[in-house]
Amino acid sequence: MAKRVGGQLVDALIEGLSDPALGVDKSSRIRFLNPRAAELFGVDARKAIDKKLWDVLPIDDFTRALSTLVNESDPVPKEQMVVFPGDRLFVAQLLPVYSEGRNTGVVATLKDMAGMQKIEKSIEQFVTDVTRQLKVPLTAIKGFVETLLEGAYQNAEITRRFLQVINEETNRLTRLVLSLEGAAQPDQTPRLNLRPVQLVSLVEGSLSLFQDTAQEKNIRLVNEVSGDLPLLELDQEQMRRVLDNLIDNALKFTGLVGEGTVTVTATAENGEVLVSVTDSGIGIEPAEHPRIFDAFYRVEHGPASELGGTGLGLSVARSVVEAHGGRIGVESEPGRGASFWFRLKALG
Ligand code: ATP
Ligand code: MG
Repeated sequence: MAKRVGGQLVDALIEGLSDPALGVDKSSRIRFLNPRAAELFGVDARKAIDKKLWDVLPIDDFTRALSTLVNESDPVPKEQMVVFPGDRLFVAQLLPVYSEGRNTGVVATLKDMAGMQKIEKSIEQFVTDVTRQLKVPLTAIKGFVETLLEGAYQNAEITRRFLQVINEETNRLTRLVLSLEGAAQPDQTPRLNLRPVQLVSLVEGSLSLFQDTAQEKNIRLVNEVSGDLPLLELDQEQMRRVLDNLIDNALKFTGLVGEGTVTVTATAENGEVLVSVTDSGIGIEPAEHPRIFDAFYRVEHGPASELGGTGLGLSVARSVVEAHGGRIGVESEPGRGASFWFRLKALG
């Protein structure tokens, strides 16, 4: 049948198809079977040609659908889900072939749905994670606002404390929305608004955001960044997202150990500034190091997985650092804390 419709070119196309494909004629004889189909069915393509369908392939949903269509007098294209052994899910597209107005056979292509299933799973997981992340600060904000409205606002000290919490939770929501925004365009280089920046003030700003959380968790936040470092040409807002996430992670994964220290250091060397956020937390298996910078990737830490998180922070951090022409990386061993670093070119 392949020869009749177009000769060598069609043969080459069918052979080269990345999906399994086969064709049967009106008498249910196999007229072509490409290498991917031979592999899927575990048959020798050359031996299968001209054989009856049933002599080569097992009787299953796929061959039954194929044979039904071949025997119809006026068949129309059909799509059907087929499960192959090992729970491999495919979508079969069955296309009747007409020649001079007469149906002469059926061509079938099979699309492997494994990739789709994986994508669906990660979208599902992502929605669950994002929803959980949004719910936590929203519940807190609502709770504190309601308590204030019920009368707590009459006490100035309580009002100040509650407003502080509401402010923090709103910052958390903002950070989440910003990382979602970054993840929505993972391949787009963030547009940078470059200005000469003193690193120490950037780090101070970031650390002050986490002071209360650190205190609650009994973790010491240490700023070892000196004011004498050369200036860096940065997008201050974007780089704050990098620092915020590195410090947020450091606190999250140190909190699991109980108490500890998170230190930010910076050194100037060879026209670059090397910034590190080092923690004394649970650490990360070296095999995981390259993957944690991928979007949505989170290490299975057992109880740590319950910390939530969408797995976006580091992928956003990497794209921001790389957009600045810098590099980012990690040094860590399980149980020995982690040190996330990034290098940026210094000004002048
Ligand atoms: P998000 O940042 O989107 O809130 P997240 O913190 O889980 O979520 P990333 O910041 O991208 O995502 O980090 C990816 C994963 O890398 C984390 O889930 C965690 O498994 C691991 N990780 C990151 N930082 C540390 C750290 N300091 N110590 C131990 N593991 C870490
Ligand atoms: Mg994070």
